[in-house]
Amino acid sequence: MADVTTKKRPLLRALASGAAARCPNCFRGPMFSGFLRVREQCDHCGEALHHHRADDAPPYFVVFIVGHVVVALALAMELALVPPLWVHMALWLPLTVAMSLILLRPAKGATVALQWALGMHGFDPDAPEAADKSVDSAWR
Ligand SMILES: [Zn+2]
Repeated sequence: MADVTTKKRPLLRALASGAAARCPNCFRGPMFSGFLRVREQCDHCGEALHHHRADDAPPYFVVFIVGHVVVALALAMELALVPPLWVHMALWLPLTVAMSLILLRPAKGATVALQWALGMHGFDPDAPEAADKSVDSAWR
């Protein structure tokens, strides 16, 4: 008989749900309460989302993606057309800012969902949550 707490979590579906700013567990509830602030728990299913430790990973992914796209386009344009510098600034600076703002939220949602699907940090349903409480209660 399978233990309910050890069920496998769907990685790809969770990533897609997280990138869409939805709860990785029910795929319906919103993950964020602000632009990048992750909710304490899902409003729809009650899944705890506060365990995430996204930290610098989402901005790193965004810089990696945007850098590769913008630098490749700027180099291609420079080689093909040799435009003046102001054309580069007028094109690539707004594109860099826009792409960064557009990609940051999906990157953070997918990072949180990845941590949830892999059971990282406090997302592991089999983790002994009583460890912290027992230490805490030992000092009282
Ligand atoms: Zn949910």
